[in-house]
Amino acid sequence: LHHSPDSLHRIIDLMDGFKASKSLFAASKLKVFDLLTSAEGLSAEEVAGKIVAAVESTERLLDALVSLGLLKKVKHKDIIAYRNTEQAQRYLVSSSELSLHGYIIHCNDHVWPLFTHLEHAVQEGASQYERAFGKRLDDLFQDAYYESKERKLRFMNAMHSIAKVTGRDVASAFDLSRFKTACDLGGCTGAMAYEFTKAHPGLTVTVFDLPAVIEMSSHFYPEQQDSNQVTFLAGDFFKDDLPKADLYILARILHDWSDEKVNELLSRLSAICSPGCGLLVAEIFLDEERSGPSRALLQALSMSVGKQRSATEYSLLMKKHHFSQTRIKHNSNFLDALLCIKE
Ligand code: SAM
Repeated sequence: LHHSPDSLHRIIDLMDGFKASKSLFAASKLKVFDLLTSAEGLSAEEVAGKIVAAVESTERLLDALVSLGLLKKVKHKDIIAYRNTEQAQRYLVSSSELSLHGYIIHCNDHVWPLFTHLEHAVQEGASQYERAFGKRLDDLFQDAYYESKERKLRFMNAMHSIAKVTGRDVASAFDLSRFKTACDLGGCTGAMAYEFTKAHPGLTVTVFDLPAVIEMSSHFYPEQQDSNQVTFLAGDFFKDDLPKADLYILARILHDWSDEKVNELLSRLSAICSPGCGLLVAEIFLDEERSGPSRALLQALSMSVGKQRSATEYSLLMKKHHFSQTRIKHNSNFLDALLCIKE
């Protein structure tokens, strides 16, 4: 049997993938990228001093990050310093406008422990939350994400950062000029809603989310509090009255729920929507053979409930509740979008 260098490399890359992920997570957790924003950079000793770590292991981490294209080495006389590459500067520095820092911390603290029990998850067909965190999981949001203020902020930070990075493409996917009012169901920190108001200056958006979330929303956009284009309303979208709007947005909501719960929510929406109302769904759509994209299929592995669906599956669910004229926009980043209209 002969070697096939390409397929061998592919397998080796997959074997090493977790080491690269964890190096990125550890560096983000230690806020290494926040230290390396200046052109002169810092030496390994200086970084170690600031993150209170051993010098040799810090140097190993920094060198690994250089090999991954996240840091660059710069030489000043005889001293080697490290600084961020452009992509680290843009996406990994925690204060950057397009920072993924919050999402990366969520991956490290929440998703990684779940993935270490993947074989059990497959064998048992059940969430590994209890194995990973020592507690039973009855309600995903209440038990996993909102059981303490610290966890709640971590989850909200994760949603905030990913919505800021992906929201603009979703908000500008369709001509929404016929809609004047929108309601972003499960709109969390309002990051997606603000992207919609930026893309559509005539639109006002109500962010509707659980009370535990809404009470913290002012942590995220203190500077926007005076804006009357985005308002916040607390409630449970399965139980409480939903605000009236011309357009309902469901961004990264439906994949968390079974078909039964999705039908329940869509039937509530269908009941309050007048003909001509819009429903905009943002998710990563599986391709029709359910063979990609990997990002959606890998994410599904750590989900305890819910499922990833293709654009056709979503369209059929919408159709059942009298939402038709479906239009689909595939975005090559994290979120695709689908718009349909109440008959
Ligand atoms: N839409 C945001 C985005 O795209 O970044 C956040 C998506 S996050 C995966 C799901 C959101 O749905 C959370 O903010 C959560 O609090 C909210 N949520 C979950 N169950 C809810 C319910 N029963 N009623 C209202 N909001 C709910």
